[in-house]
Amino acid sequence: MTAASLSDVLQAAMGGGYAVAGLVVLGWEDACAYVEAAEQAGIPIILQAGPGCRAHTPVPVLGKMFRHLADRAGVPVVCHIDHGYSLEDCLEGIDNGFTSVMFDGSKLPISENVDITARIVEKARAAGVSVEGEVGFVGYAEGAASATTDPGEAARFERESGADALAISVGNVHLQTEKTAGIDFKVLASIEAATTLPLVLHGGSGIPIETRRKLARETRVSKFNIGTELRMAFGQALKENLQSHPEAFDRLDLLKPTIPAVRDTTLQVIRNIGPTPP
Ligand SMILES: [Zn+2]
Repeated sequence: MTAASLSDVLQAAMGGGYAVAGLVVLGWEDACAYVEAAEQAGIPIILQAGPGCRAHTPVPVLGKMFRHLADRAGVPVVCHIDHGYSLEDCLEGIDNGFTSVMFDGSKLPISENVDITARIVEKARAAGVSVEGEVGFVGYAEGAASATTDPGEAARFERESGADALAISVGNVHLQTEKTAGIDFKVLASIEAATTLPLVLHGGSGIPIETRRKLARETRVSKFNIGTELRMAFGQALKENLQSHPEAFDRLDLLKPTIPAVRDTTLQVIRNIGPTPP
């Protein structure tokens, strides 16, 4: 199967009353684990290269790796740049095989956010690539505070930017290690009333499992970004392996057991929010 665009996968999810996971990739092992889970469940996924991943591994390498996995997968797999902070970040993704890019202009005044997103959309369209934008600001656990998305700004962003998906801030917070995020369903309903795009929640790890399921089934939230939960599964598996094999030193021996552990956690995540099995 050829790598899918974000637009195709999210439009199907929105129509089908489910959501797709944007899975944070940091290396080969977790990327493999995600695709194994997707194929096992028969559910599409989004592989995401965020700023940390891109600082560690060059984008051309990530592009080849993502496309290698996506082009051979038995289910739709989107190759996505998460949190591009400039036109250049997004163009680098488009030029290196990514099928989707996120421009994060959430810290900019809305006019500037709209303008830069629209310029990226123009370049992306020509290459058959999707664009996710953000309105409002999703804060960070023990970091910058959130700014809730204004429904009027969301409507303007949708009208003027041409983006394919909209990330919003309604109580979700990045990097939470406990599932304590309280989603403001009232604000979410106002945003839904003012827009038509598939909606994205970053900070999915902090949202309680049952709330994620409800959002996936009953609202237009079509994408949850999940990172921390999977990084914790990876770290836990690695620590257990080190403790049970203190003599081990080989990189492959150390890392291999993380793949089934991350795969199993991913399966739970994508089945919970994914399409109901026939
Ligand atoms: Zn994010």
